[in-house]
Amino acid sequence: MSPVSAASLVQSLIRPEILALHGYHVPDSGGYIKLDAMENPYLVPDALREEIAAIVGNAQINRYPNPNPTSLKQKISALLNLPDDMSVLLGNGSDELIQLLAMAVNKPDAVVLSVEPSFVMYKMIATFIDMRYVGVPLAADFSLDLAAMLAAIEREQPALIFLAYPNNPTGNIFSADDVRQIIAAAPGLVVIDEAYYAFASDSFVPQLSEYPNLLVMRTFSKLGMAGLRLGFLVGSTLWLEQLEKLRLPYNVGVLPQLVAEKLLDNHDVLLAQAEQIKFDRSALYQQLAAISGLQVFASEANFLLFRVVNATDVFNGLKQRGVLIKNLNGGHPMLTDCLRVTVGAPEENQKFIAALQESLSDVGLAPDLQ
Ligand code: PMP
Repeated sequence: MSPVSAASLVQSLIRPEILALHGYHVPDSGGYIKLDAMENPYLVPDALREEIAAIVGNAQINRYPNPNPTSLKQKISALLNLPDDMSVLLGNGSDELIQLLAMAVNKPDAVVLSVEPSFVMYKMIATFIDMRYVGVPLAADFSLDLAAMLAAIEREQPALIFLAYPNNPTGNIFSADDVRQIIAAAPGLVVIDEAYYAFASDSFVPQLSEYPNLLVMRTFSKLGMAGLRLGFLVGSTLWLEQLEKLRLPYNVGVLPQLVAEKLLDNHDVLLAQAEQIKFDRSALYQQLAAISGLQVFASEANFLLFRVVNATDVFNGLKQRGVLIKNLNGGHPMLTDCLRVTVGAPEENQKFIAALQESLSDVGLAPDLQ
């Protein structure tokens, strides 16, 4: 028998910050009405699914994927109206692009900065690669605390800033003017993460030419393609050709490439779904706002954040009734008693509301619906 155990080797070899880390938790969602992960509840119409099935059936999965899928990239450039000096970098979801960006600028003492609460992967990825992360608290209403941001930029000189626009998990979109001041003050790269662009009223893509330190990141995950794992970064070719060197050669598989291209040819179908989701978001917002004792926050994304007393009990009550949402209570202090629900199909939203009313009565909060 070997004198050392695997457990002691793990303790001595794995970096302490990794030992201390809790991995990104994805709960088992089997059998639930799944409103926890900002997915689009709709598949595409049958005729389009059949076309996709044929494309997949003929795909050359015996070959490695095209490492530079130019026609897919051109479709993205055309959709975004990108000028000639800008390019597209594809990632295995935008999570991978966050990692590439952080790795590219991770010189000794380099800092990645974001706001809090925001998307947790900015901080997690900094930890993965042993990079210093600074989180600047948002104001109490979840808007940017511009003075605190400008002070932190001055103090930390961050190599990289991530701003989710709209923000997750709060759902609001920051003041564009504040964001412009941050980009202008930043000594390093500013990445505007537009994961929820399809549900929002604004974008920084048209401003790319104005700022040499600006890149915009998007994902197709919220637009009906979460299962494909496809995100992209756009901006000056000067930046992207450097980042391209860090991309693993075959990060986007044969099937995601083909299916994404087909879906982009039918972009109107996806946008119509997003419009439906926006419409249903307003209805869900009204229903939540009508519940006394519950505070719902305005959203430009495909989810709604709300605060309710005994949030964890309410979350568990929903789960017992077959509805899975996201419990944010106990994470960031500003999210105490907060829950996040993804806008689903209308019948899912109604089941959620019914289960919420029952769960609220269980915890002694008689929902007072108008
Ligand atoms: N950015 C933000 C703000 C997000 O909320 C998410 C997903 N929750 C992502 C990026 C990652 O998306 P994906 O990796 O699916 O492209």
